[in-house]
Amino acid sequence: MMRRRALLQGAGALALAGGAWPARAAAYTGPLFDAHLHYNDEAWGQGAGPHPLPDVLGRMQRAGVRGIIANSRTNDGTHALAASSQVRAAGITVVPFVRLYRNRDDYSSWFRDESIHRMVLDELARGTAAGPFRGIGEFHLYESANANGPVAASLMRLAEERQLAVLAHVDDAAIDLLMAHTASRGQSVRLVWAHTGIGGSPVERVAQLLARYPRLMGELSYRPGLTCDGGMLCPEWRRLLLQHPDRFVLGSDTWINARWQSYEALMAGYRTWLGGLPSEAARGIAWDNAARLFGLPTPA
Ligand SMILES: [Zn+2]
Repeated sequence: MMRRRALLQGAGALALAGGAWPARAAAYTGPLFDAHLHYNDEAWGQGAGPHPLPDVLGRMQRAGVRGIIANSRTNDGTHALAASSQVRAAGITVVPFVRLYRNRDDYSSWFRDESIHRMVLDELARGTAAGPFRGIGEFHLYESANANGPVAASLMRLAEERQLAVLAHVDDAAIDLLMAHTASRGQSVRLVWAHTGIGGSPVERVAQLLARYPRLMGELSYRPGLTCDGGMLCPEWRRLLLQHPDRFVLGSDTWINARWQSYEALMAGYRTWLGGLPSEAARGIAWDNAARLFGLPTPA
């Protein structure tokens, strides 16, 4: 009897240790896919900016990033990444997306600007040195109703017809509006939701949209409420990610040069909380989910 009690106490102590496990887990060490990378003009500067190709490549390598969605204002930055033999030699796969912006003004008018629509068609026809463009975006909608702008509607239909993914920085209401433009009403379009609702859409609403649109993916940079103590996932986000371990991806969102300067720290932050997840879920969010979107092999 005594012996049995000692065993039970031992089990209780183990269970407690199990409860504290995420905070003490080792960081994830596998490959990362950066599904939200910009190589904008102020970083690249046609090779003369503060972050020329060898600089950003070094940061990706030190962070263990093996694949990127590249999209840049202007698209020249993406073409430079796609054409770089150094990037290829480093074993980093570039998945190019067409950016909708020539300059900052385009952020607030692209959804009704026919010249943006033509630019996207021209870029798609041109392709990149790394192959055809695989997606459109990132685009922003600061008001949900602008999801009904004529160019936003056309580009959603184009994405579905040509099987291009979409990277969209929008709120939850705009997800429904954008999806409604497609022939499948959002059932077959691959939309990567940048920041998974940067305004803080509740977890329940995110879960509802994931259920409604089977190919919707959530990208997790700048997501409010994602991490808590010690940089680990907050409980409600941990639950959501474990309920849908195949629906989330990571991103750096290097929209300003400061994000390049903290690139390795950002990726280390992801590795910290990934380490608190079961290894299959961590691997999915870190690499497999994005790789599956674009049919990429697993890096050696
Ligand atoms: Zn961005």
